[in-house]
Amino acid sequence: MKYDIIVIGSGPGGYISAIRASQLGKKVAIIEKYATLGGTCTNVGCIPSKALLDSSHHYYDAVNHFDTHGISVETPKIDFSKMIARKANIVETTTGGIKYLMDKNNVDVFEGLGSFIDATHVKITKNDGTDLTIEGTNIIIATGSKPATLPFISLDKERVITSTEALKLKEIPKHLIVIGGGVIGLELGSVYKRLGADVTVVEYAPKITPTMDADVSKELQKVLKKQGMKFAVSHGVSSVERNGDEILVKATDKKGNEVSFTGDYCLVAVGRKPFTEGLGLENVGVKLNERNQIAVNAHLQTNISNIYAIGDVVAGAMLAHKAEEEGVVVAEYLAGQKPHIDYNLIPGVVYTWPEVAAVGKTEDELKNANIEYKSGKFSMRALGRSRASGDIDGFVKVLADKTTDEILGVHIVGARAADLIMEAAVAMEYRASAEDLARICHGHPTYSEAIKEAAKAAWDGKPLNA
Ligand code: FAD
Ligand code: NAD
Repeated sequence: MKYDIIVIGSGPGGYISAIRASQLGKKVAIIEKYATLGGTCTNVGCIPSKALLDSSHHYYDAVNHFDTHGISVETPKIDFSKMIARKANIVETTTGGIKYLMDKNNVDVFEGLGSFIDATHVKITKNDGTDLTIEGTNIIIATGSKPATLPFISLDKERVITSTEALKLKEIPKHLIVIGGGVIGLELGSVYKRLGADVTVVEYAPKITPTMDADVSKELQKVLKKQGMKFAVSHGVSSVERNGDEILVKATDKKGNEVSFTGDYCLVAVGRKPFTEGLGLENVGVKLNERNQIAVNAHLQTNISNIYAIGDVVAGAMLAHKAEEEGVVVAEYLAGQKPHIDYNLIPGVVYTWPEVAAVGKTEDELKNANIEYKSGKFSMRALGRSRASGDIDGFVKVLADKTTDEILGVHIVGARAADLIMEAAVAMEYRASAEDLARICHGHPTYSEAIKEAAKAAWDGKPLNA
């Protein structure tokens, strides 16, 4: 029961860290309080949401787009319980895959709540109340996050719900009111809009996806509006009441007027908060920062030198791939290597359709940092590939340093943006210039040609197909 490394939490941060540490010769244990491995991402996050996004996309296409391709089908019907069951099945296969990976890498898995006794001993309390203690030279906290809410909202988890419940509803809402026009609100809002619900997004900030490039937010809102989603931006929600099956959401608009929305479900998607409850941090004196995240240095080390923390429970983007990278970095650091993460190059993706993806700086960030830049934009509708598939919405925007031409940011709204963005991330990792990207031969016809064209527009202002 003595380990080189104990990982608490089996999300993408924790389980990837355990694998990497084991690959580097460490004896590793992982503790997970739930019966299945994989954390938020696999059980109630990335994977189930993408399963429902894909299913709803097929339905939407069948209803709205098949006809234009010359395909007629009888009115498609939704078997919602089958759709949800398919999602559950995908989750089950994926969590099973993680268990397989733990076994393959000789990582000991303990089910139960992990809590610190002292800096090297962790108590594992099982569901049946029994406990055991294991010892670790180093401990990695990867306990993730939970949905945040607003102080005046009482989440009944039936009709006033978080993303967790939205992934397993028993029926399609008639009118889903979404509080928060961020990633979760727009992805899960898209699922139910495509399946036929009315969806109203109430967003506090003046634009949806407030941290993304302003052009991207504008284009995304335009396209989602075209798909029928309704938006109330610059609206601060002030109350949510349930009367039977009816939900009344009140908000204040920017002029100070009270506005009401009535629906049958309300999804609260106003962000997530770090999860440290039950960890017994007070027993070891691990410090939190002002946002209740575990405070870490550049090596992801807490104020207690043998305890590290990664993923959603520390500062930074709450993304699975960010958690994974941090997991690898800590494992390699503990094995004596000198790993590094460039936080500027962590891509962000929104899986609406069209997808949105970005890497590097937004125009506002460059302006605020007084960096002189040039911008090249290319519209998806000018691509042969987009016209062939019918996915003509969106654009690629490349931002490059005005003097050196180094690529500083790439922002995409368009079909398969989630996969396309990696070309930009690779280019930026190698500090490529816009000219470099513009001179690379891209397959034709592909969506990726929009990146080449936008890079050329940024470099010499002369895209070829526009
Ligand atoms: P988590 O995945 O939250 O895992 C933490 C684990 O620790 C949990 O299993 C928890 O049970 C366990 N735990 C906590 N405390 C203890 C304890 N004391 N003892 C034992 N175990 C404990 N990110 C993306 O990059 N792409 C996406 O498409 C995406 N989609 C998302 C969709 C939704 C609906 C949601 C909610 C999130 C989504 N995310 C997405 C975010 C992503 O899920 C998180 O960023 C990621 O899961 C964080 O990983 P983590 O390892 O830090 O923590
Ligand atoms: P978010 O931070 O993306 O969006 C929350 C939104 O709620 C913001 O736009 C904010 O302005 C708004 N808001 C806050 N208070 C409000 C109020 N009182 N009234 C109206 N609006 C209000 O958070 P999220 O969508 O809940 O997602 C949580 C995390 O999960 C994010 O950090 C995200 O990175 C991660 N996630 C990622 C993906 C992905 O990568 N595709 C998908 C889902 C979730």
